[in-house]
Amino acid sequence: MGKKVDDQGFYGEFGGAFIPEMLYPNVRELEERYLEIIQSDEFQREFRHLLRDYAGRPTPLFKAERLSAHFGTRIFLKREDLNHTGAHKINNAIGQILLARRLGKKRIIAETGAGQHGVATATVCALSGLHCIVYMGALDVERQAPNVKKMKMLGAEVVPVHSGNKTLKDATNEAIRDWINHPVDTHYIIGSVVGPHPYPDMVTRFQSVISEEIRIQLEEKTGRNFPDYLVACVGGGSNAAGAYYHYLEDERVRLISVEAAGLGVDSGKTAATSLLGSTGIIHGSRTLLMQDDDGQIEEPYSISAGLDYPGVGPLHAWLAKSGRATVFAVTDEEALQAALLCTRKEGIIPALETAHALAVLEKITPGKDEVVVVNLSGRGDKDMETYIDKLGI
Ligand SMILES: *Cc1c(COP(=O)(O)O)cnc(C)c1O
Repeated sequence: MGKKVDDQGFYGEFGGAFIPEMLYPNVRELEERYLEIIQSDEFQREFRHLLRDYAGRPTPLFKAERLSAHFGTRIFLKREDLNHTGAHKINNAIGQILLARRLGKKRIIAETGAGQHGVATATVCALSGLHCIVYMGALDVERQAPNVKKMKMLGAEVVPVHSGNKTLKDATNEAIRDWINHPVDTHYIIGSVVGPHPYPDMVTRFQSVISEEIRIQLEEKTGRNFPDYLVACVGGGSNAAGAYYHYLEDERVRLISVEAAGLGVDSGKTAATSLLGSTGIIHGSRTLLMQDDDGQIEEPYSISAGLDYPGVGPLHAWLAKSGRATVFAVTDEEALQAALLCTRKEGIIPALETAHALAVLEKITPGKDEVVVVNLSGRGDKDMETYIDKLGI
């Protein structure tokens, strides 16, 4: 089994739709209609049009010459940071808003961590004239202030969530609660390849434009349409799922997933979900998550708000468990240093999430003629305060 999720929404033992009864009508409607809608010619025309003329796709695949020389291999950066709103999140937001319109929904809700998904959702809501409510952990509201301002200017209502450790998991709980209370008129735009089936598959399909483009661009630049190593950071796993999609069944491509180790995998302050996690259910799907012996979810920690999540999408749980992907964990400090290296060698300031992917270049040993593609999931504007502060610049 490769890219195709099964009829029940499972990747091996992971996935499914474990939801309260109140959500059955919503989730069933999506499950029954998403493929027919998103595969229609008319949908694809509008989706492709917005990806190109609104988001700015295709994003470049850039040969990073100075990083390549530094690491003694051939490194290409897939520039998702150059998308409108500064990250890959807009690909999914565009797909889901088009779907929501076709389902006749009038009200859009979303959760957000770093605020990138909230901004992407508020953006497509403004574009479509739909009402937008974004749930965000109160701690994240504080540490991602520039994105909160953007969402407000775009006309979204930002609701701070004060439960738990006031981050992404808690925002997601609150968004699900809202959806239960507004089952008819509301579409929930989930921001990653998490949640009940069909979300993980649906979001993966919207993000798969990333690997579709990598294939064409690598062929042009190297005469070969696949890399030897394909590296992406994994929070919920949407940028990685999109970068991997067309290579899932191609064993020549080593898939390298990078999680946030926080202060260290064994420090108790970490978000290394698939390394430390065990099988459980979170936000509607069976997956690997960090939990204690009683099944209580453990609070994750990462310097990067976008990776600060105790679970991982079911596709990634399966890729990790089956060995198809190799999972690394990168600490806050390693990520900060990688961000600085990328900035000083290439003039590209990456998002803190992306910096985790870049840090793995210190941990793998590709040959000098081998090709490494790093998915540069987003830009670092939102993280400038952290960089200046922690790097002592
Ligand atoms: C949200 C975000 C991530 C993490 O989310 P995934 O679903 O794992 O991709 C990574 N990088 C950036 C720039 C983000 O905004």
